[in-house]
Amino acid sequence: MNPYLDDDLIALSDQARRFAIDRIAPGFQERDRTRTLDRALMKEMGALGMIAPELPEEFGGLGMGCLAAGVIHEEVARADLSMSYVNLLASLNGQILSHHGRPDIVRPWLKRLTAGEALLAIALTEPRGGSDAANLRLRIERDGDVYVINGEKTSISAADQADAAVVFGRTGAPDSGAHGVTALFVPMDLAGITHSRFDCHGQRAIGRGSIFFENVRVPLSHRLGDENKGFVQVMQGFDFSRALIGLQVLAVARVALEETWSHVAQRQAFGKPLSAFQGVSHTLADLDTQVEAARLLCLQALWLKDKGAPHSAEAAMCKWWAPKLAYETVHQCLLMFGHGGYDRGPMEQRLRDVLGFQIGDGTAQIMKTIIARARAGRAAVPA
Ligand SMILES: Cc1cc2nc3c(=O)[nH]c(=O)nc-3n(C[C@H](O)[C@H](O)[C@H](O)COP(=O)(O)OP(=O)(O)OC[C@H]3O[C@@H](n4cnc5c(N)ncnc54)[C@H](O)[C@@H]3O)c2cc1C
Repeated sequence: MNPYLDDDLIALSDQARRFAIDRIAPGFQERDRTRTLDRALMKEMGALGMIAPELPEEFGGLGMGCLAAGVIHEEVARADLSMSYVNLLASLNGQILSHHGRPDIVRPWLKRLTAGEALLAIALTEPRGGSDAANLRLRIERDGDVYVINGEKTSISAADQADAAVVFGRTGAPDSGAHGVTALFVPMDLAGITHSRFDCHGQRAIGRGSIFFENVRVPLSHRLGDENKGFVQVMQGFDFSRALIGLQVLAVARVALEETWSHVAQRQAFGKPLSAFQGVSHTLADLDTQVEAARLLCLQALWLKDKGAPHSAEAAMCKWWAPKLAYETVHQCLLMFGHGGYDRGPMEQRLRDVLGFQIGDGTAQIMKTIIARARAGRAAVPA
């Protein structure tokens, strides 16, 4: 129990956990091998209202708060971090589309999204680099009643599995920085779009790759927000995904800790359970303490969002701390299983899976710059 989760949220979380144990956990390792998300499972999740429940009912959501999205997200991630990308991408893109898209264009897509019938990607990073996110090169030019896109987005999660993507590109002059960026909603079946798939260390069921755009024509009606304002308006959605990513990786750390506590209480060495040795139990107690605290910070960020209060700094704190802590936690848990932890199996897959979020959605250095700017002021913390 904690002050953020009332009885309704706990019941929602319990329901999601039962589904995740029965339906998602059994395919965890198999999906890592086949490198594909399970579309049928996505639809089951949608039918149960597990995808972007925070969206209004007119868009297929349940009109619940962001904490509801958070508790479901945790339970899916606990069973399979890759499958929980379905929740993450739906909540991030769902917020962007519902706030900045033309209702007649985005409504049908949001209904498919919440039903688990569509997967949406977010395409920001380019080959030149991702940290300096406003320094985009992908070209978006206006030609009558369409935009024409040329260029490459890279390291995009679900690049080859997504049905559509939110794509950021430059409509302004090359040196226009954040003020010359426009966001478009782009169905992936348009002529001129191709993609590649990378061979990733972890998160292999969702995967990453490049998306190539060659004279891709997108109607003006698919613009998200105002022209040249895509970066300033649409990027605010990332505060939401940063708090969700925190819960996502900590859910993996928590299940790893549970299994490891149970293992060290039962396995013997030198005539005692492993947990009798402080080198074992204090290491786990230390990590368990930090995981508990980091989770509360993530819930606090979502609670602030639900209250309409500023939470950019808190979200950035979640995004740098939780992935680092989750990686350290799963690493130590793996070691507590001795040679068995090193075999291909759930623990080594978890370690591979959580590592990606020390990079994806922005590195620790960039998150700390965001926190510093919130605290000291933007002028005092230039890039
Ligand atoms: C698992 C995963 C999923 C991803 N999914 C997506 C996705 O769906 N969509 C998408 O658009 N992108 C995605 N990315 C890309 C990701 O957002 C970028 O990789 C990330 O923003 C960093 O950009 P980069 O890799 O180009 O590193 P660079 O920008 O080249 O940075 C390299 C290193 O330099 C450091 N650095 C850079 N600038 C500074 C600075 N000012 N101060 C201190 N250190 C600095 C960085 O922290 C980093 O350690 C994903 C990446 C991963 C690994």
